[in-house]
Amino acid sequence: MERTFILLKPDCVQRRLMGRILARFEDKGLNVVAMKMLQITPELAKQHYAEHVQKGWYPTLEEFVTGGPVVAAVLEGLEAIRVVREMLGATNGLQAAPGTIRGDFSSSRQMNLVHGSDGAESAAREIALYFKPSDFCDDTPTISKWMRAADEA
Ligand code: ADP
Ligand code: MG
Repeated sequence: MERTFILLKPDCVQRRLMGRILARFEDKGLNVVAMKMLQITPELAKQHYAEHVQKGWYPTLEEFVTGGPVVAAVLEGLEAIRVVREMLGATNGLQAAPGTIRGDFSSSRQMNLVHGSDGAESAAREIALYFKPSDFCDDTPTISKWMRAADEA
């Protein structure tokens, strides 16, 4: 089992797409093990997007991601980090494949609805940035035995 961090960005919340986007992850069989709504501060934005802070376009990203409420969540599942990234699609919604979340809902390079961790290291870092251990609900849904064979997990 693997955990990954997702963020429903302000465009996702404002466009009333939270439920539909979360449903896609639930439909896939990923379990939500922690979730909260919050408004990102400029300080948190700089920590989250530390790899991009020096880029010329970072100020517009910070303005965007702090511009309205977001939903942060941790999803758990087999190969969850890769699976979620593939469900998101390419960064730019105009280039993301149809069938991916960004390909289906976004026509923007910046307003691409959802963030997902891009590797094990960033997942651990991002989860710790938004959640503490007591925020997690470690509950295995009873339907799990109908989502994959017992010898797969
Ligand atoms: P991803 O979210 O697919 O990992 P990046 O790590 O490259 O993409 O960028 C982080 C986020 O910054 C993107 O999801 C997008 O919201 C925003 N972004 C990426 N490139 C640009 C850009 N050139 N101008 C403004 N915002 C951008
Ligand atoms: Mg990235």
